Amino acid sequence: MNKKTSEIACSFCGKEGDQVEKVIQGPSVYICSECIGLCNEMLEEDDKHELSLNGRPLPKPAEIKAHLDAHIIGQERAKKALSVAVYNHYKRVHSGTADVQLSKSNILLIGPTGVGKTLLAETLARILQVPFAIVDATVLTEAGYVGEDVENILVRLLQAADYDVKQAERGILFIDELDKVARKSGNPSITRDVSGEGVQQELLKILEGTVSGVPPKGGRKHPEQPLVQINTKNILFICGGAFDGLDKIISQRIGTKSMGFGSLLDEREGADESNLLARVEPEELIQYGLIPELIGRLPVVGILHPFSDQALMDILLKPRNALVKQYQKLFEMDGIALRFEEGALKKVVELTQEKEMGARGLRAVLETIMFEIMFDLPARDDIAECVITKEFIEHKAPPTFVYNKKRA
Ligand code: ADP
Repeated sequence: MNKKTSEIACSFCGKEGDQVEKVIQGPSVYICSECIGLCNEMLEEDDKHELSLNGRPLPKPAEIKAHLDAHIIGQERAKKALSVAVYNHYKRVHSGTADVQLSKSNILLIGPTGVGKTLLAETLARILQVPFAIVDATVLTEAGYVGEDVENILVRLLQAADYDVKQAERGILFIDELDKVARKSGNPSITRDVSGEGVQQELLKILEGTVSGVPPKGGRKHPEQPLVQINTKNILFICGGAFDGLDKIISQRIGTKSMGFGSLLDEREGADESNLLARVEPEELIQYGLIPELIGRLPVVGILHPFSDQALMDILLKPRNALVKQYQKLFEMDGIALRFEEGALKKVVELTQEKEMGARGLRAVLETIMFEIMFDLPARDDIAECVITKEFIEHKAPPTFVYNKKRA
């Protein structure tokens, strides 16, 4: 309903009906045409500020974290730090050549094998729908010389982007095993013969932002064929490494007895006092063998912890594509329901902890347990349900079957 009368006034600016073109009446308020115009302008302004990535709104840190939670168990602090860093990174990409240059926040993830470093980087790329590639820092040394190989890293991202250069230039590149290219002199525990410092210098170039020529799709057919130019300025680099022995270096500084990864099982918030790695300082990474310039380019550090038994159990059951769900799906396709007894799952966790491969060990343990059954069962149409018991895992009993009516 709208009125034009001197008896009513806009609830926002106070102007009376005869001072403005129109006043719209709501249930208990009035708004004048001038205020509506102002509101529209404000909304348009907001739209302009809406951050986008690939034409979609850029998810806020809390949204990114919520997505990560669906796939990654535990590692709360690392997930939070990454959500913020990634959000800021793409804000920076969005702002382009604004007056204030936002500096780049590449990320360093530290934690033993199988705790989710790669999974985190991969999941982030999936959430943001940007190209993603994984490379191993150690391959950079295998050719015997450095220069050319670093470009090969970028080719991987270009391939992941289906040779769309613009897409590749805003992708995420995960560089694994950064600790293995530490300077040897810096760290006596590194025994591999790699020319660490040279590789780090090369990595530094692409992390800082450089334009690099890489071979086009299908390789260069002839020497005159131009290279594809990739600018690494907006690529988000996530580096990962176990950094074995780093805790000892930190403990030397803070004077505590070295605790080792194995004793860092408690990852409740607030329990970080006992976590040496969480207290890492740049100097300690230098002492470990990283060059200071590279550390300077990795301002966000995320620490990932080994898993408690409960966390491994959660990983078995909870993520969207949890291993137990995957096996159940496989069996379901053969018309068989699969159930793990709680004792069996506990045994799986126990065997996994012994492997010291983090959650990566879960699959290996389960594969061994399920191997024979997966071979036999598809040929059986008399089985309705298969129950995995602790006794079966311990080779003390066969699996328990529930038979269907077809059984002769
Ligand atoms: P890292 O890179 O730390 O060595 P990955 O990320 O490759 O370890 O983890 C190996 C596998 O273990 C993943 O593919 C995933 O199946 C599982 N995994 C590791 N960490 C987690 C986690 N926090 N939550 C759920 N699954 C995990």
